[in-house]
Amino acid sequence: MPTSPSDPSLALTPQTLVSIDPATGEPVGEILVTPEDHIPQMVRDARIAQRSWGAMTMEQRGDILKSAVPHLVEQAQRIGELLTREMGKPRAMGIGEATYCAKGIPEEVDSIAEALEPEILEDDALRTTMRFDPYGVVAAITPWNFPLLMVFQSVIPALMAGNTVLLKPSEETPLVAREWVAGLNEFLPPNVLQLVIGDERQGKALVEAPIDLVVFTGSREAGKHILREASGGLKRVILELGGKDPMIVLGDADVDAAAAFAARNSFRNTGQVCVSTERIYVDESIADAFTEKLAEKAAAMKVGPGMESGVEIGPMINRRQKDHVVDQVEASVREGARVIMGCHGPDDAGDGNFLPLTVLADVDHDMEIMREETFGPVACVMSVRSDDEAVRLANDTRFGLAACVWGESSHAEEIAGRLTAGMIGVNQGCGGAEGSPWVGARESGFGWHGGRYGHRQFCQVRTISRSRKND
Ligand code: NAD
Repeated sequence: MPTSPSDPSLALTPQTLVSIDPATGEPVGEILVTPEDHIPQMVRDARIAQRSWGAMTMEQRGDILKSAVPHLVEQAQRIGELLTREMGKPRAMGIGEATYCAKGIPEEVDSIAEALEPEILEDDALRTTMRFDPYGVVAAITPWNFPLLMVFQSVIPALMAGNTVLLKPSEETPLVAREWVAGLNEFLPPNVLQLVIGDERQGKALVEAPIDLVVFTGSREAGKHILREASGGLKRVILELGGKDPMIVLGDADVDAAAAFAARNSFRNTGQVCVSTERIYVDESIADAFTEKLAEKAAAMKVGPGMESGVEIGPMINRRQKDHVVDQVEASVREGARVIMGCHGPDDAGDGNFLPLTVLADVDHDMEIMREETFGPVACVMSVRSDDEAVRLANDTRFGLAACVWGESSHAEEIAGRLTAGMIGVNQGCGGAEGSPWVGARESGFGWHGGRYGHRQFCQVRTISRSRKND
């Protein structure tokens, strides 16, 4: 595999992939790449393993997954630090993610088991049992921004449903995925969970292989490609894609609370979160006060290497992603955006993969930065004259992942009801009560994860009906 000169974070040779620390540019380790022509045999092995894995009861599968928990918990600090070195997020967050992906298994397993219990439907004449059966072999393809969480939310529901899984983690974060998979594989039967290492070539080969369901989390463009490829074989597809999430700040909002949230949600994980706040529409009566407070909060955040104590914001994942963000900022400044703090373009964009936290005002929808996903530490503030204008602009997008509205609660809830995103928060982020799905509208998703209906998407639904005459 050739090394891409435009992307020094990836160094692919014919046999190995070198994972690079985005904070230092140093190698973290290397891993063997899966030859694409091995994938069909891996799928055959997965299909054979599926017969006995799928024949187990859900309780048996759950018990096996739960038995891995003590081992994964014991390893969580080491795996979390590896996550930080491989992907850049602050150490506490890396360890937090690794810990959740270990300790969170039992709760996830139990909620999936409950969601997949057969459901009985009855009318006067018929009794129908609705069953949730495995599809067979699942291809799980995941991104780097939450390199374990995204793996966890794809793999655990797929396995619990009785499928076997071929997991292809991001080429940016293969080492941390390998550690988590190795931890589970000490307890799983052979070939129930296999690892495919590589970049989009391996991802494409996996989608083309005779698998039954693709569970993909990543960019909109890759998602569209997967949907097209999968359509030939009518393979099932679940896509969790990118966003351009709006935040509306109404004239009656608590400015301090809204600004604190905007800073947190624009910059956490260096803005590399699918539900980052990427567009902020603020009522003109409070726009200046809000922007000033947002900049104040941002200035107090410490940017640096994730392994350093006190750091809240790490580097960008790689040079390519940094250049994409800097290009968007530079173009918007050229088109009239005002830099409240942070960078204007390449000249003041910081060292290596680090990027100063940036707040822009006077942006508009002619600018790419208000239309296409940024996925970087930039907060874009636009002053609006009315609620109607805020709603119109917030909905003026092809994306539809999350959104939030800040203001007096009944007023904000009414505005929230007019937004077209999949997950909308009122005076908070997008997270819902236990059992809520993770769902994107429009081009941010196709199918969804989590909750009763999300878990059921990893299954083939079947109905068995009989007469009630003799009941
Ligand atoms: P990406 O689409 O470049 O890559 C994601 C994965 O898909 C990687 O493993 C990659 O190797 C593979 N891949 C790329 N092209 C492929 C193709 N044509 N066929 C098969 N596999 C392919 O995305 P990324 O840069 O790793 O992640 C960032 C993106 O993920 C952002 O757009 C972000 O919003 C999105 N994301 C969405 C969610 C969500 O829940 N909606 C969560 C996290 C990230």
